[in-house]
Amino acid sequence: MLEKLRQEVYESNMILPKAGLVVMTSGNVSGRDPETGYVVIKPSGYKYEHLTPEHMVVVDLDGNVIEGNLKPSVDTETHLYVYRHRPDVFGVCHTHSTYASVFAALGQPIPPYLTTSAMMGGEIPLGKFVPIGGKEIGKEIVDKIGDKLAIIMQNHGVFTIGNSATQAIKMAVEVEEIAKIVHHALLRGTPLLLDENDINATKNLYENIYGQDNN
Ligand SMILES: [Zn+2]
Repeated sequence: MLEKLRQEVYESNMILPKAGLVVMTSGNVSGRDPETGYVVIKPSGYKYEHLTPEHMVVVDLDGNVIEGNLKPSVDTETHLYVYRHRPDVFGVCHTHSTYASVFAALGQPIPPYLTTSAMMGGEIPLGKFVPIGGKEIGKEIVDKIGDKLAIIMQNHGVFTIGNSATQAIKMAVEVEEIAKIVHHALLRGTPLLLDENDINATKNLYENIYGQDNN
């Protein structure tokens, strides 16, 4: 079932190792089907090089496995909490990508010094430390992410959301790039903040003008 979404979630997960956002089996991407409400997610602790679209696990919003022979990701509860509380979200991605996790280790949000930050709505907020693997992380994400598409989770890593699994993984790649540049900028001086007007204008451009009409 949900062949198209399985393929999209599979391809999104495979971007994680290709983009250098994960080591070993960490990281995961999920996507929600708008019709059934089911969520397709990566299986737990499975090597990326062995993954196929058939390995993706279909669960309902309560975490019951609807289809799949493998256990879903340990972060499934977290993803599901976000989907239950954010009807506008159809994709969630989680990584411990290096530079974003530097901000997580320091307990710092990422200020908007770059136009690419505006794509995510400006400052990338910080969520407090919450033990991993449960819906408590989901609650912290929902409480703190607001209208942004990414959140740094203290002492842990980063979560991104989107209107599809594809958008969530794009944001995961972007947030790592932003974290990397901001990290280096902070080492060299005092970066310049974008103001609210510039952020809104840039966000509007990314949302409404950027890219091809059929994409
Ligand atoms: Zn994690």
